[in-house]
Amino acid sequence: EYLMPEIPLPQRGDPGLRLLRRVGVVDPRSLDDYRAAGGYSALRNALALGPQGVIREVTDAKLMGRGGAAFPTGRKWAATAGQPERPHYLVCNADESEPGTFKDRVLMEGDPFAVVESMTVAAYATGCTRGYLYIRGEYPKAFSLLSNAIEVARERGFLGRDIMGQAGFEFDIEIRRGAGAYICGEETAIFNSIEGFRGEPRSKPPFPVEKGLFGWPTVVNNVETLANVLLILTEGCQAFQRIGTSQSTGSKLFCVSGTIGHPGVYEVPFGATLRELLDLAGGVPDLRAVLLGGAAGGFLRPDEIDLPLTMEDARSAGTTLGSGVVLVLDGTVDVGGFLLRIAEFFRDESCGQCVPCRIGTVRQEEALHRIVRRTGDSQDLVLLRDIGRVMRDSSICGLGQTAWNAIESAIDRLGVRL
Ligand code: NAD
Ligand code: SF4
Repeated sequence: EYLMPEIPLPQRGDPGLRLLRRVGVVDPRSLDDYRAAGGYSALRNALALGPQGVIREVTDAKLMGRGGAAFPTGRKWAATAGQPERPHYLVCNADESEPGTFKDRVLMEGDPFAVVESMTVAAYATGCTRGYLYIRGEYPKAFSLLSNAIEVARERGFLGRDIMGQAGFEFDIEIRRGAGAYICGEETAIFNSIEGFRGEPRSKPPFPVEKGLFGWPTVVNNVETLANVLLILTEGCQAFQRIGTSQSTGSKLFCVSGTIGHPGVYEVPFGATLRELLDLAGGVPDLRAVLLGGAAGGFLRPDEIDLPLTMEDARSAGTTLGSGVVLVLDGTVDVGGFLLRIAEFFRDESCGQCVPCRIGTVRQEEALHRIVRRTGDSQDLVLLRDIGRVMRDSSICGLGQTAWNAIESAIDRLGVRL
């Protein structure tokens, strides 16, 4: 198996950390360590509040999904909890595959019992008896630590029947590993993969909250989203909201990479500026651009780095925080070559199910190649825009819909002359 190098955690052990508070501090194999550091107090509080009370807390905390799309978690949970059919399923999306994204890996490797506890809280709130943890195949260490955490939790009565002595509360978790396909992180492709079919996305609606895994109501949450639920239940929604801004509450993990002194995973409250984050990571003397939000996000120029890092400010700046990607490019980077790498990535990872994306990602890469290598003509840029628009308007899933975002942003916002 391919073992990735360790991810730097420059703030490790800092008393101000919230989501990362236990990472690098507790033994990830020890349930006793986890409990001594506050573990399972969130589930205890959840059981006292009851399912409706938990959903109310999460809704009032204004928690938004941290996988990339920022959908309100409380709304998702309420929609599933309200479905009368049974069973309900829970899927924790741990197929972290967005280029430049490695924050969930840090949570899974450093605080695996928190993943198990937070899934159990989500299951309790939404009436799920079975959960699947769909983990990226290239994360062998996280897989091993989570397998251990699930086994130990089961032995000690934190999974299975009558969890923590709550009569009738039953929940268990099964791990499924991806096999290297980026598209298997798309929530409905996960369902197909778990069910034994090709990992191809389904058309939405119906949304998973109504018709998801095996056709039953399903909640899908990202690892970091669930980590926030533990904080909300231990400190209360009011205290949680005091961190961040009125619309983007809490803190956020950012994956800082590229040409910067101290790459790694950083936790800052929403509202910190991009400049502050870059300074924390050692600063960039010759900044050319920052790719925010990942390959489907957009570029910011050096004069835009005072942008507050919130969902709403990113949207106003024409990009997204996505999964927390902050990819730094200084003056030494060949931007044309970088864009070609993005186009190659989308062409490679398109599942091929729908025509606009299957053909569009190939044609996009070809046209971009001609432009960057100066072997085409003036019509190539027109063609590139046309292809981008068609993919955005008519692809089935987010991959095809966003495969043109970063390239468009480099041309229009960065003024990259290809
Ligand atoms: P989406 O906007 O379609 O959905 C977001 C979530 O909200 C989904 O769970 C969806 O089921 C739910 N939802 C949306 N509308 C709903 C409704 N009306 N009722 C109930 N539920 C509803 O986005 P998506 O395609 O799931 O995700 C796209 C994001 O994924 C992008 O922003 C990208 O940044 C991110 N992404 C992340 C990674 C990673 O590694 N973390 C990889 C690729 C993409
Ligand atoms: Fe597959 Fe691309 Fe269509 Fe998504 S948009 S279903 S990845 S071909």
